[in-house]
Amino acid sequence: MRLSRYFLPILRDTPKEAEIVSHRLMLRAGMIRQQSAGIYSWLPLGLRVLNKISAVVREEQNRAGAVEILMPTIQSADLWRESGRYDAYGKEMLRLKDRHDREMLYGPTNEEMVTEIFRSYVKSYKDLPLNLYHIQWKFRDEVRPRFGVMRGREFLMKDAYSFDLDQAGARHAYNRMFTAYLRTFARLGLKAIPMRADTGPIGGDLSHEFIVLASTGESEVFCHQDYLGFETPSADTDFDSVAGLQGVVDKWTSLYAATEEMHDKAAFDAIAADKQVSARGIEVGHIFYFGTKYSEPMGATVAGPDGRETPVHMGSYGIGPSRLVAALIEAGHDEAGIVWPDEIAPFDIAILNLKTGDAATDAACEQLYKGLAAKGYDMLYDDRDERPGGKFATADLIGMPWQVIVGPKSLAEGKVELKRRAGGERELVSLEAALARFP
Ligand code: ATP
Ligand code: MG
Ligand code: MG
Ligand code: MG
Repeated sequence: MRLSRYFLPILRDTPKEAEIVSHRLMLRAGMIRQQSAGIYSWLPLGLRVLNKISAVVREEQNRAGAVEILMPTIQSADLWRESGRYDAYGKEMLRLKDRHDREMLYGPTNEEMVTEIFRSYVKSYKDLPLNLYHIQWKFRDEVRPRFGVMRGREFLMKDAYSFDLDQAGARHAYNRMFTAYLRTFARLGLKAIPMRADTGPIGGDLSHEFIVLASTGESEVFCHQDYLGFETPSADTDFDSVAGLQGVVDKWTSLYAATEEMHDKAAFDAIAADKQVSARGIEVGHIFYFGTKYSEPMGATVAGPDGRETPVHMGSYGIGPSRLVAALIEAGHDEAGIVWPDEIAPFDIAILNLKTGDAATDAACEQLYKGLAAKGYDMLYDDRDERPGGKFATADLIGMPWQVIVGPKSLAEGKVELKRRAGGERELVSLEAALARFP
């Protein structure tokens, strides 16, 4: 992508309304545009990051055996009357009427709808287990939308729903998602700790919130410090191994970790003082086993091995990709701007032409651009007619992980400069060496 033909509306000044660093940087880097309170347009740079996060989430869901679908944003109120949640949900639900006066709503979540799909097609235990997920916009009329996309009203959610014959099956489904979440957040370069969360009226211990520690987080959390050093389950984890996954979950729940609602002061105080972490955190994911809460009232049953109809055991599993964009910035930034992890960066490499119009400099940039593009890299080529200072600032602000800086002075000696955004190391290398650096 040539920056002269791109749409990157950088803001010079720090927007006053933004209270936390991720919101400020997302606005300054031209990633999002607020349209109403808690409702945002995603501009090209922001959309690229959002899509990259969704791609990682999708890969890990697929790896864990979940199957992707896409349900609509608009749902019928009648569906929610079946579960009893239409009246119970309250003011967070955006309610609408169509031209025939039918009551509709903008989905805040999809348990009812996915249960309706399930019951329409799945009749036998032989078709289980099943886990259906989608990545779709949700709307919740939050009392206090704030911090940009961190707490939006319209936000993107990956929500998966598992269906099993019995509780033991559901437990394995839960463990699959638990493990997939550990992998997902680790791939995003985040240390997310699974913390015991409130299960509501169902009870049991099968609900975890995945929390990223951050001073700007809205949750108060308590955990054992050793979690921060735990190893992530590997890519070749066998998601069909019941004992294997239980081992992963047992390990990741062996130490104390709880959100404020579940906090047990006595248990926390029993941890060695130098291992106690009492901090603020961002909820980036939440998984939940809720048994037959929806399947029973909504008649989602299957015939078991004995021929008897039984309501399926379900769980739901959410991740917020749009909130994750902000969480990644909270975790990765410096005074100059955003520092993306390589896999999530909107582009892999920036090429900075320090003297657009100079024949030799232009030619060297073109050679780099074409050479790296041929190898499959995504590049942002700053070919604008602007001062070098502005180009450096832009590349740093938007967090380009690698920057190849091409100016007439070093080029006269056959060299270009290679800069790593994280750490800031710079190195003068030949054009060929720069190309060779990216295999
Ligand atoms: P919160 O406690 O922050 O209000 P929640 O517990 O209501 O979140 P869930 O219903 O568990 O959220 O939804 C699953 C995931 O969706 C959350 O873990 C979070 O990543 C994301 N999410 C929820 N609400 C929002 C929001 N208003 N803006 C952005 N992401 C959100
Ligand atoms: Mg909420
Ligand atoms: Mg919550
Ligand atoms: Mg939650």
